[in-house]
Amino acid sequence: MKQKSEAEAVAEAARHSTGNRQEVEGSKYAGCLSCCAKFDTKEIANWRDEWNSPEKQNRVKRWTAICPRCGKPTVIGSSTGLLDDQAYLLILNHFLTKQPTKRR
Ligand SMILES: [Zn+2]
Repeated sequence: MKQKSEAEAVAEAARHSTGNRQEVEGSKYAGCLSCCAKFDTKEIANWRDEWNSPEKQNRVKRWTAICPRCGKPTVIGSSTGLLDDQAYLLILNHFLTKQPTKRR
């Protein structure tokens, strides 16, 4: 397992927490970076559509998962490997001590 710096881990997590519908649906479980909850991906009922692309098909696949526990768009799927990695602790630490950057 390669060692990641906090900055790398956080950048990776941020990338995987947006437009991640396809990735999350292909995962066994998902985790939230805001409330630290881990849950079954079936629990995710809300998705945020943040794409203006006219290609509707791709767009739906790229919706952003909304956490079923705290309602924040900071969910990452287990298929990213980030939830098992020790980098997850660095990521959580970062997100819990700083507010996640608004992407709007
Ligand atoms: Zn949450």
